[in-house]
Amino acid sequence: MKVFIASVLLFVGSCATIRHSEKISNLKNSISFNDKSVVEEYLKTITSEELKIHLIEVASDKYNGRMTGEEGHNLVCDYIRDQYKNREINAPELVPDYYQKVPKTILPNDLNASQNIIAYIEGAEFPEEYLYITAHSDHEGVIDGEIYNGADDNGSGTAALLEIAEAFSQATTDGYRPKRSIVFLHVTAEEVGLYGSKFYSENPVFPLENAVATLNMDMIGRVDNRHKDDENYIYVIGSNRMSSELHYITEEANSTFINLNLDYKYNADNDPNQYYYRSDHYNFALKGVPVIFFFNGEHEDYTKPTDTEDKINYPLLEKRTKLIFATAWYLANSKTRLKKEII
Ligand SMILES: [Zn+2]
Repeated sequence: MKVFIASVLLFVGSCATIRHSEKISNLKNSISFNDKSVVEEYLKTITSEELKIHLIEVASDKYNGRMTGEEGHNLVCDYIRDQYKNREINAPELVPDYYQKVPKTILPNDLNASQNIIAYIEGAEFPEEYLYITAHSDHEGVIDGEIYNGADDNGSGTAALLEIAEAFSQATTDGYRPKRSIVFLHVTAEEVGLYGSKFYSENPVFPLENAVATLNMDMIGRVDNRHKDDENYIYVIGSNRMSSELHYITEEANSTFINLNLDYKYNADNDPNQYYYRSDHYNFALKGVPVIFFFNGEHEDYTKPTDTEDKINYPLLEKRTKLIFATAWYLANSKTRLKKEII
């Protein structure tokens, strides 16, 4: 009896496997960057020098560790907002000054009110479909007289988001407006418990049922111990959890343009760190939006005052930013909307 069941299962299993691998190869074949030279043109605009300028600014002492609700964080938000104003990247109609106020009443620890920063480029063909690209702007503030600069966490993601927005803005100016709308969202209050992204997900400026995907960056400028001998990597978390297509789009973007080692270690369901639940993308996943979390892993300066800009690996930050841009390009410009389907 046991043997019989086993052989039936084996038979069923192998048929299913064939169908599955056919589906995967059909899916892979359908993903191709037919405007490769155009993408390359705008990838070139993302440079380690410009990332460094933004990161040094954001992680500087004058912002006092960017604690939610404090003056230092409000000032760095002004810096971020000015980048969008200067580039003439629009604010949404609903928040014409780019600031979505996050009220004191929803924040913990008696923190003052804060703000998410929202800018967007309207899509040319499917303006009602939205790709979100996100990074948190806040950090830990000043503790025991020491400034927590948060260069990697999350000066790196903040700088990357600004460079990605600039690249899409340049493309738009040159006549390559994305087919779908792209929302650049700098959320607040991540460190105190993902409150800024939670507030956005419950009070979206653009309807989340029309969100194609959310690409979130939180710590992408450093190298962890696991990769000391080969720094050419990024952890990719969540890409296959709601959409197989999203997973393969990222792989295709990587193999076509970037060639980082995509490390899926922390995407495992049983990974004890459970990073999938620990940054802002998760609030979008809870609303049914396919997400990816790009992350470099923890290092010796994680959540310490020693997370400073001199320790950032800028060429690597550039490569990772380019991967996210190329992935975003495809999601925003593909003929058909990303399918929310696991195969
Ligand atoms: Zn962070």
